[in-house]
Amino acid sequence: MAGGERIAREHRKAKGMATGARETLVIIGSGPAAWTAALYAARANLNPLVYEGEPSREMIPGGQLMWTTEVENFPGFPEGISGQELVMRMREQALRFGARAVMENIVAVDFGRRPFLLKASGGAEVEAQAVIVATGARANWLGLPNEERLARAGGGVSACAVCDGALPAFRNKRLAVVGGGDSAAEEAMYLTKYASEVVLIHRRDRLRASPIMAQRVLTNPKIRVEWNTVVVDVHGEDFITGLRLRNVITGEERDLEVGGLFVAIGHTPNTAFLEGQIELTPSGYIVTKHPWRCATSVDGVFAAGDVMDDYYRQAITAAGTGCMAALEAERWLAHQGVGEVPVLETAEVPTGIDVDPMGGD
Ligand SMILES: Cc1cc2nc3c(=O)[nH]c(=O)nc-3n(C[C@H](O)[C@H](O)[C@H](O)COP(=O)(O)OP(=O)(O)OC[C@H]3O[C@@H](n4cnc5c(N)ncnc54)[C@H](O)[C@@H]3O)c2cc1C
Repeated sequence: MAGGERIAREHRKAKGMATGARETLVIIGSGPAAWTAALYAARANLNPLVYEGEPSREMIPGGQLMWTTEVENFPGFPEGISGQELVMRMREQALRFGARAVMENIVAVDFGRRPFLLKASGGAEVEAQAVIVATGARANWLGLPNEERLARAGGGVSACAVCDGALPAFRNKRLAVVGGGDSAAEEAMYLTKYASEVVLIHRRDRLRASPIMAQRVLTNPKIRVEWNTVVVDVHGEDFITGLRLRNVITGEERDLEVGGLFVAIGHTPNTAFLEGQIELTPSGYIVTKHPWRCATSVDGVFAAGDVMDDYYRQAITAAGTGCMAALEAERWLAHQGVGEVPVLETAEVPTGIDVDPMGGD
């Protein structure tokens, strides 16, 4: 049976089972965090239902890895693996153990009642005893048609230097980074390891990055800053060849030859549908109650992956927190009388911890 037809049939089946149903565990999302959580939950006989989202201009079921051609830093794949294949394999593995998947968004939740109530984009309302939110974040893009085309096609446009910067295609080339904050500064510094030159393109006349990061960028001989400048077009058929730049003060336009573009203008966590239902940071990330745990401000709701992590943002860390969220959900459900108390009945969450495990700011 063709893959697309098989997936459609799985969805119809899962949808039929889901409509109006009371679920033990609903997982929202479809990246490494969601599928790892689904795998663990399915193997723990929690019969998870995964809402994997709908394709749209901004999001694709499968998550951010669907935007990247080659993943070289996920352990277990010494030759590398395409981002799409990696996430599809995770999905397959979760379904093999009984997870069910529906290709719809969760558009609203009511976490003020028990069981929780979730509304899906297809109109169904689903009750759930526990929920794992793994809806990720989306990289902000410039919104240029050629930028999107080349990013989707693996044509040298990326939103993650740590992920893609070391790929052979970018070696010893002039690479452009767009942005002026700490992320852009970090991406520019990181790319100096591989590029012949890094051009940081910033629309203002000073960096927003912290003074120490700005200092590092400005004193790095491999980095040049194009101040007061925006990108208005991306050149290249199959692979990027250059950028059209505009000076925002003079209006003057010119071309810059580059062999790669890294857009570092921030991320937006996919949490709009959670507003008012759960504690979020000022930038919209889900707050977890304790370091290294996935429990949120709502008992029975857990968070995993980039939606609760604005720091590491990697497939392996998302998968790791997916595992953690499922184990915590399993334990929590057992305490509610659902299933057996799992082996993870170890130390209680210590109170009074206020240490930043990363030692970061
Ligand atoms: C261009 C690029 C290249 C990258 N390359 C690498 C790499 O090489 N190695 C690496 O380790 N990391 C890489 N990353 C980072 C990695 O992709 C992310 O850290 C990881 O995908 C985060 O996983 P996640 O499960 O938290 O969520 P995401 O991958 O963000 O997926 C979440 C998905 O959930 C779905 N969803 C969202 N809202 C809803 C909703 N309301 N209802 C239902 N579904 C919803 C959407 O389909 C969304 O895409 C890259 C990122 C980008 C942008």
